Amino acid sequence: MADKFDVIVIGAGPGGYVAAIRAAQLGLKTACVEKWVNKEGKTVHGGTCLNVGCIPSKALLETSHKFVEARDHYAEIGIEVGDVSANIAKMLEFKESVVTKNVGGISALFKANGVTALEGTGKVLSNSKVEVTGKDGGKQTYEADNIIIASGSVPVEIPPTPLTEGLIVDSAGALEFTEAPKRLGVIGAGVIGLELGSVWSRMGSEVTMLEAMDSFLPMVDQAIAKETQKLLGKQGLDIKLGARVTGSEVKDDEVVVKYTDSEGEQQQTFDKVIVCVGRRPYTQGILDDDAGVKLDERGFIFVDDQCRTSVPGVYAIGDCVRGQMLAHKASEEGVMVADIIAGHKAEINYEAIPCVIYTAPEVAWVGMNEQQAKAEGIEIKTGSFPFSANGRALANNAPEGMAKVIADAETDRILGVHIVSQHAGELIAQGVIAMEFGSSAEDLALTCYAHPTTAEAIHEAALAVSGHAIHMANRKKRK
Ligand code: FAD
Ligand code: AMP
Repeated sequence: MADKFDVIVIGAGPGGYVAAIRAAQLGLKTACVEKWVNKEGKTVHGGTCLNVGCIPSKALLETSHKFVEARDHYAEIGIEVGDVSANIAKMLEFKESVVTKNVGGISALFKANGVTALEGTGKVLSNSKVEVTGKDGGKQTYEADNIIIASGSVPVEIPPTPLTEGLIVDSAGALEFTEAPKRLGVIGAGVIGLELGSVWSRMGSEVTMLEAMDSFLPMVDQAIAKETQKLLGKQGLDIKLGARVTGSEVKDDEVVVKYTDSEGEQQQTFDKVIVCVGRRPYTQGILDDDAGVKLDERGFIFVDDQCRTSVPGVYAIGDCVRGQMLAHKASEEGVMVADIIAGHKAEINYEAIPCVIYTAPEVAWVGMNEQQAKAEGIEIKTGSFPFSANGRALANNAPEGMAKVIADAETDRILGVHIVSQHAGELIAQGVIAMEFGSSAEDLALTCYAHPTTAEAIHEAALAVSGHAIHMANRKKRK
């Protein structure tokens, strides 16, 4: 038997590495097992988020956005740059350098905090033991008072479009295209599909998105979703709703995708297809037969509100458990569990977890949308404000979008904030903080915002909840 630890974390994504750092900060002897190996054969930390998720996708979103801004919009504000061209190889190099820096940062944090990094594949055995199989196949068993499973998720594959090298790819494959495919099909118009579709549309692909559902972004307030659909449509994303993909055929270097819509069977030919139909928990081989840790009916590791599994001393966090598949949700759960293990009281307010889609403009929301609140029978009042009436947005040459605040009609408590705008992902923090503090719309309305900032649009939306918006001509009558 090798070393004994207070805590062993399995998986070093944003759930696992944060849990490990926090546990070590709290004085617990901590190890973190990771099996991810990069192209150079080196074990790397950061999981999906840093290696093939949040970070590389944001690098490509940012570079492709800057390219479009320079090519199509700089002249509008008086900057003549002449012909603008993109060097995709260089963009990919930049993306890789961003990933390398981030991944290296985690290893440095492990060292600085005294987290023991174990390289290999972890498996939970019975009786608080973890077996680690190294790259060379050698096995080592460790004992731990507490185990945190943070094994993450992998893309869902669907039988109609089996992944086919270089032609039908998942989200990770779509971060590696070396040129923009002429005709690009994206299956699934969810968060990841919209982001990757945007990247390659900006780089020149004709993008068609096939989405099985009839509604667009149902988790987003439908006023904001409609505005988003309109804006993304104008940029060239052909978003087909009610289009369920049923099959595909690879012919030479093309993919014929079959789908059904309200008019019957359809088909469309693409040069490449990205499958973005969601992610599933990754638990393969992580639990020994007699580990005793139960899964729920959808294959997630079953946990309570504080991420305790069915086995005392074994916790699970992040994408491998219920809830939104988001890096920051995983990290918050990591902090909560480390705190609990160290004997502190800790919990998460799952009602106040923000979501962002990093399109241009960005879509960001927290809490309920108007449709959800009404479906739950809650009486609400709402206030909306367009960025076209916001001075800073106009000065930024980014007047698209709107902000909406949803509040309880009786108590005025904020139930949700939904935004589509430039930097909506930054603006949403206000909504999160407001909800975390149980603020009313009036609390935001009475807050002084710096001018000129796009944040003032949230202020105005909060003012609009009770008809007080200042910069809106057709505002409600003040009571
Ligand atoms: P992961 O990040 O998946 O990490 C799990 C780790 O566990 C992996 O490193 C894996 O190798 C390791 N592991 C698994 N099993 C074992 C084992 N047996 N032994 C050792 N190690 C093991 N979320 C956001 O919040 N914002 C975004 O902008 C965003 N963009 C995204 C874009 C894309 C293209 C994708 C694919 C995802 C995106 N996400 C985003 C989602 C985000 O990446 C995940 O929610 C997040 O990574 C989940 O963190 P995690 O720690 O639970 O799991
Ligand atoms: P997300 O869960 O945000 O990643 O979004 C995945 C999207 O893929 C959802 O909106 C699903 O409705 C959609 N989807 C799943 N299966 C199919 C399919 N066979 N054809 C088209 N869209 C699909």
